[in-house]
Amino acid sequence: MARFSTLYSSSKGNCVFIGASGGSILIDAGVSAKKIEYALTEIGEDARNIQAIFVTHEHTDHIGGLKAFAGRYGIKVFSSAGTLSALADSNVLDRRFDACPIDINGVETAGMKIVPFNTCHDCNEGFGYVIHTPDERKIAVATDLGNYSEEISRAISGCDLVMIESNYDRKMLMNGPYPYSLKCRIISEEGHLSNDECAQASRQLLDSGTTRFVLGHISAENNLPELAYNTSLNALCGAGAALGCDFTLETAPRLAPMKKIIF
Ligand SMILES: [Zn+2]
Ligand SMILES: [Zn+2]
Repeated sequence: MARFSTLYSSSKGNCVFIGASGGSILIDAGVSAKKIEYALTEIGEDARNIQAIFVTHEHTDHIGGLKAFAGRYGIKVFSSAGTLSALADSNVLDRRFDACPIDINGVETAGMKIVPFNTCHDCNEGFGYVIHTPDERKIAVATDLGNYSEEISRAISGCDLVMIESNYDRKMLMNGPYPYSLKCRIISEEGHLSNDECAQASRQLLDSGTTRFVLGHISAENNLPELAYNTSLNALCGAGAALGCDFTLETAPRLAPMKKIIF
């Protein structure tokens, strides 16, 4: 059985929990150690059982609590060489924990095989991750994507559960308060995925066999959870699939853990 929950998912901080029979891991640690501990308790998990943290990239909303949390429990940190070098430059690494670079061949830890894929985002060397559990469940975490590239599509197709970014509604972003330069950054090939782009990707994923969808990194300023949800729901239902029967769809709460998915 695999256990999945987003603990936090927004530009204020990201952290995803994945557990299986051999252990547990986190993807990112973008909120304080205290908040991570609190959220793990909320979903019935123990911080002391986390065996590794996989970092997607060096932006603060993904690493804000990394040093404190990994340091407190001596948890091994894995990421791309580029991300680790950015973390070293900003003094986020610490002698209390090991930091190991991995490449696209992935690594085995906590009884799982974790295989990264390259993301298109304005950072040093961004990774998303596909997690293979001992009982052959496949889970993908794909956020901070300027573009749903061929490579990403290939990497996460066929995963049972996909957490994918549905960051902004294009109209809300363009009519919203952000400065023009920031709007351009978000929309760019190295920014974030819109609701429409996410819905299109979800439909492709459905065809590849994905049955559980979690929409995350939903912007508080340029999106609404209902808009993100309905855009993907329409695309999935438009493909002839039925909610609750052929697939499940949820939005990750921004500032609190979601109910754990066990499958
Ligand atoms: Zn982010
Ligand atoms: Zn980012």
